[in-house]
Amino acid sequence: MQPPAYTALPDRMYAPQRPTPVPAPRLIAFNQPLADELGLTISVDEMAGNAIPAGTTPIAQAYAGHQFGNWNPYLGDGRAVLLGSAGGKDIVLKGAGPTPFSRQGDGRAALGPVLREYIVSEAMHALGIPTTRALAALETGARVQREMPLPGAILVRVASSHIRIGTFQFFAAHQDVDAVGALLEHACDLHYPDAQNALDFLHGVMARQAHLVAQWMGIGFVHGVMNTDNMAVSGETIDFGPCAFIDGYNPNAVFSSIDTYGRYAYGNQPNIAHWNLAQLATCLLPLMPNPETARAEMQEAINAFPALYEAAWLEVFGAKLGLTLTEDTRPIATRLLDLMAEDGADFTNTFATLPEARDQFVNRAGFDAWQRDWLALNPDLTALRNPQVIPRNHQIEQAIYAALAGDEAPFHTLLAAVTQPFTPNPTYAAPPTEDERITRTFCGT
Ligand code: AMP
Ligand code: MG
Ligand code: MG
Repeated sequence: MQPPAYTALPDRMYAPQRPTPVPAPRLIAFNQPLADELGLTISVDEMAGNAIPAGTTPIAQAYAGHQFGNWNPYLGDGRAVLLGSAGGKDIVLKGAGPTPFSRQGDGRAALGPVLREYIVSEAMHALGIPTTRALAALETGARVQREMPLPGAILVRVASSHIRIGTFQFFAAHQDVDAVGALLEHACDLHYPDAQNALDFLHGVMARQAHLVAQWMGIGFVHGVMNTDNMAVSGETIDFGPCAFIDGYNPNAVFSSIDTYGRYAYGNQPNIAHWNLAQLATCLLPLMPNPETARAEMQEAINAFPALYEAAWLEVFGAKLGLTLTEDTRPIATRLLDLMAEDGADFTNTFATLPEARDQFVNRAGFDAWQRDWLALNPDLTALRNPQVIPRNHQIEQAIYAALAGDEAPFHTLLAAVTQPFTPNPTYAAPPTEDERITRTFCGT
């Protein structure tokens, strides 16, 4: 394994950090196709933190961030160790023990959230949405204390990088302009090789985030904790803490137990992305060539986000309807969403069963009228590519409960289903019953 790419940066920008060994590691799942893609051979002891792969020096990264809009100057990898690099990707052990950034935390992860991240991140990848990946899930053999003692676990995460908006914010807050500049250069080398300056970089990040959030919207995904430290400049989805998929459509859907005011509700995600990107722009100000015009240029760039997002949204929802949507034909998408919201129609199954989605609605006359107008636009029905299976919250919870009770089979069958999301699968397509419905998710830290 190579050292983490991030160690090319000045050494004041990270801390060397070895994972803390665990008593009895046991592999729960290993993503062999991903390992093959990375050209990586890695042992259970290396994934558990009980041995360090040859050739690398693990580190922990510092970062800051706005959490629910409140500035937190000291976050950082509190329970993740960046083990090294393979196939050009970061290999991270999440739950690998305390670091200088752990604050009051134990540096560990519980089994449930590890399985959740494994399932959801691999489902996202299979859905064609940029995301961090899951290479492995392990049980550590030690318990972690949460509201109750739970089995401890480690997720081996793979990402193009772990540079967050909050990473830029950390160095900007320390007024370490050289570090911000070095980080910019590094992030451009990794992710935006054509960017010549801070403004190009910002445009690049904005374009990818606009597309990413539009793609989330297209599958009914609620990230749940879009803090600036949970937004990667690579444009990959990162941090699957309290995330959830919508069953019955509601544009104001919120699942996270700590999101009291719905800041990160489904329909607010584009606004939050815009807000977060403005924080990134602020960090980049001192790197702009002309200080006189820097603020105006950055402001102008940031003001372009709603238009970028709108174009991405039209593309995503157009594809869901077999159309090339424009501002003029946009209402065909919003009218369907309005009907879905009125009836709480199942988000995934409505799109998955088009054009025969009538059964998803109470207001069938409303659907019929919509459908007539939709078909009049000559959609390409052979091009519809809507997911048949997403990881539904209740299914994830059931798989986790089974695993906690010693039965990991439901986790593996659910994983197999959600990583074939375009294959009809009646077993996993069923929405939750009234009793099964999950209304709250937890960060599970
Ligand atoms: P998150 O809400 O997952 O984005 O985490 C916010 C911050 O809390 C990050 O700096 C994490 O590394 C840190 N953190 C979360 N859980 C733990 C834990 N169990 N031990 C130490 N740090 C943690
Ligand atoms: Mg996080
Ligand atoms: Mg998290």
